[in-house]
Parts: sequence; C-alpha cells; structure tokens
Amino acid sequence: MKILVVNAGSSSLKYQLIDMETEKALAKGGCERIGIPGSVLKAKGNGNEKVYEQDMPNHKVAIELVLHALQDGEIGVIKSMHEIGAVGHRVVASGEYFTKPTLVTPEVQKTLEEKTFELAPLHNPAAATGLRACMEVMPGTPMVLVFDSSFHATMPEKAYLYGIDYDDYKKYGVRKYGAHGTSHKFVSAEAAKYIGKKPEELKIVTCHLGNGSSITAVDGGKCIDTSMGFTPLAGVMMGTRSGDIDASAVEFLARKKGLSHADTVTYLNKKCGVAGISGVSSDFRDLDAGAKNGNKRCVLALDMFNYQTKKFVGAYAAAMGGIDCLVFTAGIGENSPHIREGVCDGLEFLGIKIDKKQNLMRKDGILDITAKDSRVKVLVIPTNEELVIARETAQLL
Ligand code: AMP
Repeated sequence: MKILVVNAGSSSLKYQLIDMETEKALAKGGCERIGIPGSVLKAKGNGNEKVYEQDMPNHKVAIELVLHALQDGEIGVIKSMHEIGAVGHRVVASGEYFTKPTLVTPEVQKTLEEKTFELAPLHNPAAATGLRACMEVMPGTPMVLVFDSSFHATMPEKAYLYGIDYDDYKKYGVRKYGAHGTSHKFVSAEAAKYIGKKPEELKIVTCHLGNGSSITAVDGGKCIDTSMGFTPLAGVMMGTRSGDIDASAVEFLARKKGLSHADTVTYLNKKCGVAGISGVSSDFRDLDAGAKNGNKRCVLALDMFNYQTKKFVGAYAAAMGGIDCLVFTAGIGENSPHIREGVCDGLEFLGIKIDKKQNLMRKDGILDITAKDSRVKVLVIPTNEELVIARETAQLL
C-alpha cells in the first residue's frame, strides 16, 4: 500500500508518498506561500526535482497540485490517485480527546475543529484545513489523524499534572500534553534496535533538538515524562520560544510592556529563546558563527541551551532510576557536534561519555558517538516522523 503523509501549516503543505512494502519515500515535497502571492511547490520523485511556480490561493489547490506532481510525466511515481491507499495527517495537539491515531469520521472532524484549536492555535487549524482540502480532492480515500502528543499519552498523572486546583485541571484540561511524540517514538525504537535489546529493557532519554526542542524520558518503550507542556512553549528555551518561565514573570512582563495576555504569549513564542538572548538569530548555525567571532551573547545563548538540556537529561535519569541510552535527533541534534558535546559535558557521573572525534563525523544513518569507557550508549539518530505517521496510518487500516 502507498500512504500519503500530509503535514499542513497555515501557509505550507509538506508531503511524502511512502511505499509501505519498502518503507521508502517514493516522492516528497512541499508547497510554500499558500494564499500568499508567489506560491511555489518544490517536488521530488523518480530521482528528479521540479519546481511548480503556480498560484495556490488555498490548501485545496495546493493538494490538487501535489496530486498532479505525483502523476507528472517527469517526476511522477503513480498513474492514478486511486493508488494512494490512505492519507495520514500530522496533527500537533490532541488534548485528551484523542490518545491514538484516529480514522476520520464526521464526528472526529467536528471534535478536531471544535475542541482542539485552542490547544495549538498555530498548528491545529492548519491541519484541519489540510484535512478538509484532502477530503474534497480525494473523496473515498481513508483519512487518518496521527497526533504528535499520542506517544506521551502513557505519562502518569504525577508527571503530566501541574500543581493547580485539580478541579480546574478536570474542567479545562490544563495539563502537560507534550509534543514531537512521533519523533521521540521513532528514535527511541531505532535506538533499541541498534543496541539489540527490546524497548522494554531500556531506559532512554531522547533529545529532539530543532527549531522546537523537547526532551523525553522513555522507560521500557513508553514515555513517562517530557519537557514540553500544555503547549509547545514549555521546556528548554528554543529558537524563538522562551521555554519554562515563572508564571508571575509573565504577568509582570505583560504589565511592564503594556501587552495583552495573548500578545505576551506571542512574545514568548516568537521573540524570546536563543534569538532573544543572542539578539542575533534563532538559527544555531548563526549562533555558532557569532560565538566563533567572540559575540558574548551568542556564547551565552548556547551555554544556556546546553545547560537547560543537560538538566532535563539528569532529571529524566533520576525519574527513571537510571539511563542506558541518550539519543540526539532533529536539526540541531543531528547536525551540531558542539551542542552534543556541550550537553554531555559534565554528565560523566551518570556514565555518559562521548568519543569527541567520532562526534565530529557525519553519517546518513545512526552515528554512534559513545566513548569506549562510557556506560551509557550515546547515539545520533536521524528522525523520520513521516514514516511513523505512515506506519500508524497503515496499521489502523
Ligand atoms: P528542525 O526544526 O529539526 O528542522 O531544525 C532546524 C534547526 O536546526 C535550524 O533552525 C538550525 O538552528 C538547526 N541546524 C540545522 N543545521 C545545523 C548545523 N549544521 N549546526 C547547527 N544547527 C543546525
């Protein structure tokens, strides 16, 4: 079966067509600037690449163009859209409404649209728009929602609750949900495979470090805690997100800056993190360059990021009563040896020691950076969220 994986943003739509027999992506690409002048689809397939500069006023037109690209003479990989067995949609937040991949019915679509938008106002409305577009263009093809937060559904109450009035948690659903679940699930399973043990036998800390960053404690194959919270603003500081901050400081900042509640949250999401500290950029490549040139605030931003990440690794080793494996993944985790070294530095007391030369290597698959005398395996594993979405979609069907 071939599964189309769709990841819709407010003005973008990324896709992969995955053949489930080989688990390989036959085609992939992304539409950018949907609804904005200058929209473009960059598509790959059949070993070729093609750019479609075409007006895409909405997601429906975008998905029509994606289907056209999938059947294109040069880069096409299918003859008819009926070869697509199902569509798996990435959805960021599920709240407590969905705990596992879910086949779309009118009722499911209603719950997605009426209940979950406020939990991820930047992400979930876009996913719902992508879903509607696919349903219109591909009537009769099964649609499945795969939630970023599903992997975190196994967290115990003591981990996901905030110290607020329990009745308010019950009434409003204010609790930790986590994010990047598909990535944490994928890399922790890959780590177990690489080590040659069953996931049930391992205590793994996975660090998904990218534009958004989260750290997860995976005990026996199950998530028992994660650093993101009610929304993806919590945990370590990120590109532009503040990460954890005292709630009183939020009210104080709002008052001092004359901002509304909503604008203060936007400020914490968009103007803070390493971009706010460095005053230079949210991109860790720019911070590295700044630090090399002696920019002290770039050095500080990197130090803070490493320190905060390291604290979560220590906390999760404590929560699990040990650690067998530490995994780095996503844009920063896969590409920045400096950050990996900075996070691991000082964790020798936990049995974590990396081979500094090996850490500088690059590899397509899993890069093992464990030092010979390290008790804990330290691995760099490229994430593949699309494959998890495709697998879960296929399994559900
Ligand atoms: P992601 O959200 O997983 O796509 O990660 C994107 C982020 O990865 C970018 O914003 C960069 O900060 C970071 N990144 C990508 N390549 C490198 C690199 N070679 N060194 C450091 N950071 C990188």
